[in-house]
Amino acid sequence: MTIELSREHLQAICSHGESAYPQECCGLLLGLVRRDSKTVVDVLGTENAWDEEAMKAFQGIEPLAKLGETKRGNYGIAPTDILKAQKAARDRHLAIIGIYHSHPDCAAIPSEFDRQVAWQEYSYIIVSVCSGKAVDVTSWGLDDDREFQREEISLVDQLENYSKNR
Ligand SMILES: [Zn+2]
Repeated sequence: MTIELSREHLQAICSHGESAYPQECCGLLLGLVRRDSKTVVDVLGTENAWDEEAMKAFQGIEPLAKLGETKRGNYGIAPTDILKAQKAARDRHLAIIGIYHSHPDCAAIPSEFDRQVAWQEYSYIIVSVCSGKAVDVTSWGLDDDREFQREEISLVDQLENYSKNR
């Protein structure tokens, strides 16, 4: 699976990660899904809504007890933000195709928490932010065994395919 991302959107994700540092940032990816590729058409930064309520909701998930209980180690997106994004996407004939978040001072590799809360259809873009600078960006999707597989990020200057197909 390849995920097409414009340089502008890559920059937006990196900047969000850097400005949220040392906390995690997060946001939604709007776009289009084809048989063997996905295109990010827009990125929507959201508040990191990770709080005690979110923590309670995830308490059934085993490895969480060991994880940090702060926004430094976790991210959450408020349901109202997701609903708003769904509506915005529908109005533009797009869909939410994934989520991005940052890993402060940590590699751009999904954590066990990321895997537990991941949705099958989504792409997960992770930006590693070390000492306040974005240093690496990766994308991941779940396979049929719910294991993350790396997706190739195809950087484009402009979203030509998107406009051509419209
Ligand atoms: Zn993560």
